[in-house]
Amino acid sequence: MVANKPKMTRPTVYQFKLGDFTITNILEGFITRDDMHPVTATNGTAAEVEAIAKAHKLPFPQMEHQFIPTLVDTGDKLIAFDPGFGDKNPGAGKYNGRLADAGYDLNDVDYVVVTHCHPDHIGNLTAGGNPTFPNAEIVFGEDEFAFWKKGENIPAHRPPTLEMFNNVCLPFEDKARYVKPGDDIVSGVTAVDAYGHSAGHMAYHIESNGQQLMIMSDTVAHFAISTANPEFHFGMDDDPVKAVESRKRVLATVADNEMLAIGFHMPFPSVGYMDRHGDGYVWVPHSYQMNLG
Ligand SMILES: [Zn+2]
Repeated sequence: MVANKPKMTRPTVYQFKLGDFTITNILEGFITRDDMHPVTATNGTAAEVEAIAKAHKLPFPQMEHQFIPTLVDTGDKLIAFDPGFGDKNPGAGKYNGRLADAGYDLNDVDYVVVTHCHPDHIGNLTAGGNPTFPNAEIVFGEDEFAFWKKGENIPAHRPPTLEMFNNVCLPFEDKARYVKPGDDIVSGVTAVDAYGHSAGHMAYHIESNGQQLMIMSDTVAHFAISTANPEFHFGMDDDPVKAVESRKRVLATVADNEMLAIGFHMPFPSVGYMDRHGDGYVWVPHSYQMNLG
């Protein structure tokens, strides 16, 4: 008899200091898929994708697709980026409970920053029809919000996204704040143009005491495939050609400045660096660098 049956736990909260800021990543959940090809490279061959997977000791074609929201605590303000699905996906929507594990309360959040309006990034703006974060100002990219509000030229795979936007985001329209690339949420937290994955998709550059982090959001969909060849089109990119331009620009910025990066769909804790490798990049996961103070 096994006295303590293993529960197959895995880490779900990860925190580190970036200068004076505290960064928290939460594993909101994950799904498994069996279509690494074509979803990670609709313009690449199965053989190309399988070769990259093998080089990273990954199975093929099965893959895990994780959902990892980030919080930035400046000491003065608590900023929650893309707080996940919430109750719109009961299987994966573990954000609110895990926020408590991180030492925060839903009431503590001052700003909820939405990098783009896809379901895994906006679902948890409301819970049971009410705002999930009662004291937070919601911040949208101006172009992103305008695109979904207009509701024209919606990609073929996105009608459910438009429906969720109308239900979840639109009610915040008059109370929300809108930003453009280059705008600061607070000092040290700056919006970065990463358009393409969605019409106004934004990354965020974080800087405190000379330490830098790029919250890439969905600029990189798969940590191995999308970095090895940034020209691969991700099946969930709304404008794949523009997404490639943004991916190349953001990856170059991260690599050439040796800054930390976080991606919403990269393996938890989703903290690491990008190294140039041939025409692409390789993801170097964070180990203990940020623990040494
Ligand atoms: Zn996403």
